[in-house]
Amino acid sequence: ARHGGVSATMRQWVVARRPAGRVSEADFRLEEAPRPEPGPGEVLLRTQYLGVAPVMLRYLSNETSFERPLAIGDVMHGRGVGIVVASRHPDYAEGDAVQCKLGWREYGLIDGADPYFMPFRMGHPDLRLSYGISSLALSGFTALIGLRDIARLGAADRLLVSGAAGGVGSQVAFMARALGCETVVGIAGGPAKCALLTDRLGYDAAIDYKQDDLPARLDALFPEGIDVFFDNVGGELLDEVLGRIRRRARVAICGRISEYLKTPEEYHRPRNLYRIGLMDAKLEGFFVYDWEPQFRELEDTIAGWIRNGALKPLEDIDEGIERMPAALISLYEGSNAGVRMVRIDPAADGGT
Ligand code: NAP
Repeated sequence: ARHGGVSATMRQWVVARRPAGRVSEADFRLEEAPRPEPGPGEVLLRTQYLGVAPVMLRYLSNETSFERPLAIGDVMHGRGVGIVVASRHPDYAEGDAVQCKLGWREYGLIDGADPYFMPFRMGHPDLRLSYGISSLALSGFTALIGLRDIARLGAADRLLVSGAAGGVGSQVAFMARALGCETVVGIAGGPAKCALLTDRLGYDAAIDYKQDDLPARLDALFPEGIDVFFDNVGGELLDEVLGRIRRRARVAICGRISEYLKTPEEYHRPRNLYRIGLMDAKLEGFFVYDWEPQFRELEDTIAGWIRNGALKPLEDIDEGIERMPAALISLYEGSNAGVRMVRIDPAADGGT
């Protein structure tokens, strides 16, 4: 249905079935739908980019407490950056760049008064809109919250980061340096990613957890132990690190991607948890959504680092809404480097 050169329909991805253990293309179906019209209080956004996150597998099986249950046939949940194309809410004007829960669709409708959508107007629209998925968005905020507010990273701390070449991890070393930290080691899978850590992402040294002898490398790189561990991976890796924490160490539990495809019976049972008590250490989980009141400050701080060159975001951009399931699957396969996202509007950021 095209009239006047403007399409009145759009494409969207809906849930086709529940994933069987892991996510696959067949769990989703791409369909054509009428482009929504904003009612009173509503805002229509043209999707520029959509992000993918490891947690999305759990959306598909309705296993999170913070996302609405998905029925078969519902539009898949996801955050994105959109440009307001029509607004019937006084806080939003045409042309505003807004990050929010848009869903996997070319146009997203949000209720401007409903906190569910977690809308956040981008305060630095002169910077790339894609940063609204990466560094000036939940991924970057998560890195900074974990380092600064949870781990309380100090200049003398020796920092270790797992999942270091991934979305969050690719930003941690830059931020650690900006916070004054001098020793930053990253763990990632494979030689290419390890080279990326030291050549591009600001890490002093890299450990390849797939090929190296992890315990031996940890012993060699941290002869006096680890002060701060920023953990994206969990499971056995976390346990190995707990065996090497120093007195008053801080472990920020950002995620546990090594266990997302496992059942609770398969989860690793840590042997080294006793060291938290022995070393007077702290181990703390955190969830970026709980920091929503601080998003503006986090955005301004990180934008400052992008502007002065302290942070060089690494983005892994796929093209076209057709690629959404593949982009998500790539996270569990480890084929992404940096923040994986999909450009939905071919003209976003001038197409580059
Ligand atoms: P990401 O790091 O880009 O996730 C994909 C990467 O994880 C892959 O490239 C892969 O890197 C690694 N990986 C996959 N399976 C693995 C396994 N079995 N063992 C070890 N590493 C594995 O994704 P992200 O969105 O930036 O998220 C990173 C972590 O932060 C996740 O655990 C996520 O749940 C968490 N997170 C937490 C919050 C919060 O509020 N706390 C917010 C956002 C994200 P390799 O090739 O190196 O294995």
